[in-house]
Amino acid sequence: MSRLENFISRMTAQRDILDYVCPEVAKMEGLVLELGLGNGRTFHHLRERLPGRRIVVFDREVGAHASSIPEAENLVLGEIRETGRKFIGIEAALVHADIGTGYDDRDAVTATWLPDLIASLLRVGGFAVSGTPLDHPLLQPLPAPTSEPADRYFLCKRL
Ligand code: SAM
Repeated sequence: MSRLENFISRMTAQRDILDYVCPEVAKMEGLVLELGLGNGRTFHHLRERLPGRRIVVFDREVGAHASSIPEAENLVLGEIRETGRKFIGIEAALVHADIGTGYDDRDAVTATWLPDLIASLLRVGGFAVSGTPLDHPLLQPLPAPTSEPADRYFLCKRL
């Protein structure tokens, strides 16, 4: 599979999983946290799927399309490993983390802190959607609701 095909498959799984969880999230109280603004495509998607829900977005810097930049009060700049700590206990309904790099060694470092952080940000019953696997005793992996292969994008529920 070419990198282009792999990317399309990953984005299809990402869209399918977000579309599956948003109606569930709409029934719950709690913030939505977007870890990794990037171009802002998934932030834009979440804003459309969850109208009126506060979405707080994290990144090192703003590199998004002008149509997809959060309001200043919903944008947190800096290293997520540090900035995310200030939100521990916030009881978010959804955390979406799209901060994988495609490099196994770098993603292995992220895997040492990201699952713990996400578990501490979510309410019980809240959802984690992630581009990298989340190995944590409080994050129950769910089958990804997509026809794409299972390792493209990941869905967990907070126990
Ligand atoms: N989901 C986004 C979209 O649809 O446009 C793409 C996100 S992009 C793949 C990942 C973003 O996460 C980049 O903008 C990068 O700067 C940010 N990022 C990755 N690791 C980070 C970290 N540890 N702290 C802060 N930002 C990080």
